[in-house]
Amino acid sequence: MHADIDRILFSEAEIVSGIDRVAGEVTRAYSGRDFTVVSVLKGSCVFASDLIRRIPIPLELAFLAASSYGDGTESGALEINFFPTGNEIEGRNLLLVDDILDTGRTLHGLKAELARRGAAEVRSCVFLDKPSRRAVPLQADFRVFEVQNLFVVGYGLDYAGRYRNLPYVASLREEIYSSPPTARKA
Ligand code: 5GP
Ligand code: MG
Repeated sequence: MHADIDRILFSEAEIVSGIDRVAGEVTRAYSGRDFTVVSVLKGSCVFASDLIRRIPIPLELAFLAASSYGDGTESGALEINFFPTGNEIEGRNLLLVDDILDTGRTLHGLKAELARRGAAEVRSCVFLDKPSRRAVPLQADFRVFEVQNLFVVGYGLDYAGRYRNLPYVASLREEIYSSPPTARKA
């Protein structure tokens, strides 16, 4: 797996310090208020689990599943696979946590749907932000790192279902995209 990597963009140590900084911001923003961290699966599971362990105030945790990418690197239609239960949403202050804010369609769609289902407030916290790719006007309330327009993997982010378990964020070597996953060695 490591042999498929072209360049490491954020190392494990950089990730830890970036998350410490954002966890501090989230803690200050929500101290004294009830809130629920809503992790957008699958991509944000690694980020969300590191983030919540650095937030020393009460919070609840919920999950939803959304996909917009299929197996490629281009954005498709947003598909929402499941939501938290009604009482996990209604009247709650929700902090949507996602792996990466790219065109913005995913978070935009999710925010609208959660508001429609009665959330009191919906904010967002993303691990990575690619502002140059935005198709809908949306800014994350909290973000760890900004990245250039480059497809990245690792720390929860996949290519064709793989590489989520890399402990760092990296770009893949060019030839990985040109040969289908089944033709490659794991
Ligand atoms: P958006 O709806 O903002 O265009 O896309 C958000 C989703 O697209 C992310 O949650 C992620 O699944 C996927 N995505 C966008 N850019 C990248 C990238 O550079 N690498 C990977 N692995 N996924 C990405
Ligand atoms: Mg995703």
